[in-house]
Amino acid sequence: MNPLLHLFLPEHCVVCGAYIPFPSHFPFCKGCQEKIVFLRDRICARCGRAIPYGGAPLCHVCRRIKYHFSCARAVGVYASPLREAIHALKYRGVVSLAKFLGTLLVAYCEEFPLLRSVDLILPVPLHPVRERERGFNQAFLLADFVGRALRLPVLAQGVSRIKPTLPQAGLKAKERRKNVEGAFQVEWPEAIRGKRILVIDDVLTSRATAESLSRTLQEAGCSSVFVLAVASGK
Ligand SMILES: [Zn+2]
Ligand SMILES: [Zn+2]
Repeated sequence: MNPLLHLFLPEHCVVCGAYIPFPSHFPFCKGCQEKIVFLRDRICARCGRAIPYGGAPLCHVCRRIKYHFSCARAVGVYASPLREAIHALKYRGVVSLAKFLGTLLVAYCEEFPLLRSVDLILPVPLHPVRERERGFNQAFLLADFVGRALRLPVLAQGVSRIKPTLPQAGLKAKERRKNVEGAFQVEWPEAIRGKRILVIDDVLTSRATAESLSRTLQEAGCSSVFVLAVASGK
């Protein structure tokens, strides 16, 4: 490898700090990569939550309410090492991680063709103030990677976040719903109308954000919404 290039690629795993002797394009060591808990089976058919003992097609939430998205999925469990990887991307600005996490999203779409039979990809928008502070929207970086890999258009400007929301972590289910209620606004309805949309985010927690955005998209006349995130909380 070009020694100059080496300077720009992290040599240490962002999760455990282990030295990566043969730097890949990902700041992630093999050991940590093997610890990812994937969510493929024993998940709710609609919202993608883990159903630890299997058996039922729908989780306890989806037996009570009907979300506005057709289905939501996450690549893996929001725990180490995905949690650290997402934190490093969001809060430490290790943007090369978007490629690594994006690769996981693309592999997931290849396994579940329904997720890639869409007309366009929409990253969950950040509020402009938050985006200015952070310097980027991690959901956009992920969506952009997936869009290029699957040759699907990415709608970067059509929907905006008009309400500054609190971080969903640390809020109770009801507070989470209230927090993101009316948070999104469709700016470009013609881009949405009649379209099958794949929404991309980094983490799905209570599904409240995905639900609020899906509802807004449905009200703007989209045909269906699928949601895909890197990780899912409980
Ligand atoms: Zn590691
Ligand atoms: Zn469910």
